This record gives sequence, C-alpha cells and structure tokens, in this order.
Amino acid sequence: MSTRIRVRKGVFCLVLAFSFLAALITSGCSLGQSNPPHSSQESVVNEVLKPEQNNTSNQVEAENHNANLGSSEDSLSTSGDSPSSREAKPSSEIITPEIPLQDPDPQGVLEEPTAAVIAEAIPVLYYHSIAYEAGNELRIPPQEFETHMQLLYDNGYESVSLDELYHYFYEDGVLPEKPIVITFDDGYEDNYTHAFPIADKFGYHGTIFMVTDWIDGAGYLKREQLLEMSQAGWQIGSHTKSHPYLNSISTEQIKEELSSSKKILEDLLGTAVNFFAYPYGINNPTIIEQSKEAGYTMGLTIERGWAVEEDPFRLQRIYCYANMGLAELKRRIENPNY
Ligand SMILES: [Zn+2]
Repeated sequence: MSTRIRVRKGVFCLVLAFSFLAALITSGCSLGQSNPPHSSQESVVNEVLKPEQNNTSNQVEAENHNANLGSSEDSLSTSGDSPSSREAKPSSEIITPEIPLQDPDPQGVLEEPTAAVIAEAIPVLYYHSIAYEAGNELRIPPQEFETHMQLLYDNGYESVSLDELYHYFYEDGVLPEKPIVITFDDGYEDNYTHAFPIADKFGYHGTIFMVTDWIDGAGYLKREQLLEMSQAGWQIGSHTKSHPYLNSISTEQIKEELSSSKKILEDLLGTAVNFFAYPYGINNPTIIEQSKEAGYTMGLTIERGWAVEEDPFRLQRIYCYANMGLAELKRRIENPNY
C-alpha cells in the first residue's frame, strides 16, 4: 500500500517535473528571442552608424545631429538645457532633405583630385562634442578621444594650425612630415574641459569653429575659455552667428551671419579670424562669395576627404564619430581617397 502510494507520488512528481521543464523551455525560448533592451540598443547603434558607410549621408547626418544638439537660441536661454541633456533623435527623423551636400555646386567644381594634388593633401579631422551620450555619434567620450590622440601620436603625427595650413598651401610655408589639423564644430564647453587638456598631453592643439550666439550659453564655451584656449595656441574660427541653413536666408542675412560673427570673435580674442566652417557643410557660389567679402580666406566643408589647395573655400574634412574605431581612423588619415 505504502509502496503503491510512493509509486503514484513518484509518477505524479515525474509528470510535474516534465510539465515544469516544458514550461521552462517555452518561456526560456521566448526570453531568449525577444530580449528587448539589448536588441533595440543594437538597432539604435546600427541605425546611427549605418549612414556612415555611405559617402555623403553620414555628413548630412553629422550636421543634422549637430543641429539637434544645439541650434535653438531659446534652449540656450532656459538654464540647464545643456547639449548632453537633449535627446538624440533617430537619424531618420532629422535628415533634412534640402541640404545639397551631394552636389552643392551643379557646375561641379570638385573633380577627382590628380596624383599631384593628393600628394599635397592634408588630413583635417572634425569633431563636435567630447562627452559621452548613449547613441549619439557626435559625442565622443573623452577616453575614446584620447585613444584617437594616442593613435596620432604613436604614428608620428604633429598637429598644425589652420594658419600653418594656409601658409603651406598659399604662401610657401613649410609643414612637418606628418601634419594633421584637428577641428571642432559648434563650440561645446567639453572642448575646453575634455579635448583641450587631452590634446595638450600629446602637444596637440586644435581649432574651434564657434557659433557666436552660443558663446556663454549652457553647455557651450565661455568667453574666458575661448580666450584661454586662443592664448594657448588653439585657433578660433567662425561657424556663423546663429548656425542657420545659409542657403535658406537672404544674401543680406548671409552677410550679417558671416561678418558679425567674425567681428565678435576678433573683438573677444584680439586676433584676426580668417577661417570659417559652413553650418551643415552648406555652401554655394553666393555663400562663398559672401565669405570672401566678409574677409575670410578659407572655408571648410564637411565633404569627405583631405584638404587640398585647389579651392580654399571648399576644404574637405575627415568626419570623426563615436565608436568609429581606431582602424577606421587610421584608414582615413593614411589614405587621401579613403
Ligand atoms: Zn555645426
């Protein structure tokens, strides 16, 4: 009797164990399949980085993120709205179709550079913010930025200023054997707190392209920081007054954006401000003409490539973004046709 009960109990337990196992397998599979946080994170990263594989769309993406990071003046006036607190929207939402980056000049000023031109080409890196923000490729964590500088240093690069680049291209100046120009667009405060001391460890200096309306704004460079960097050998260039789409405002407004920002920086720094970076990389013959009239001598785009002397107002730059990897950075600084 007691043996029979034990057997029944045993069978019952076995059945229970089987059903439990079956339930476990079923639920285990579904957990494994969905795993939402991980897979969605991956897809965000993929989505953000995907455009980078395309020659031009990554550049559109870069500056659109950029606009997203800090374009509205009212956000500056509300305290605490630092760039890091703003949300990075998925790239698909912020691509602005009117940006004519693929062919800004239908006449086609940019042609395939010849071997001789390439031999004289200089790599010009461009960064934005040096601070961590999940999923935002425009913000490179300081540690990662330091690995970039270390890579340059280990490979014998010497940072040169845009002044030196200008002298080399247009006035018979001499550059070191492996020159590199390091630039930062918009003027984030972390360029001072992070990029400045990190670059200094390697004896490097950079150029900040500052949007003058954003000076002293939350998350942006302060007047005294700009002065200190300038006095330490960094160059400050203009990135307009308010970061507009220069192709969607009047010629008078373009003139104002270019001249007033130049004057504001020159008054602040006590030095000439000769270089200018186009917001969103947008340029066309009118914008270039206005840049010349405002007194600039070089204009930097966000078109992929190395800078060559052929067109001082269409200098190309190398886009640097979070998680690009050192191999990719190396590829871009070693090959003018990357
Ligand atoms: Zn910008």
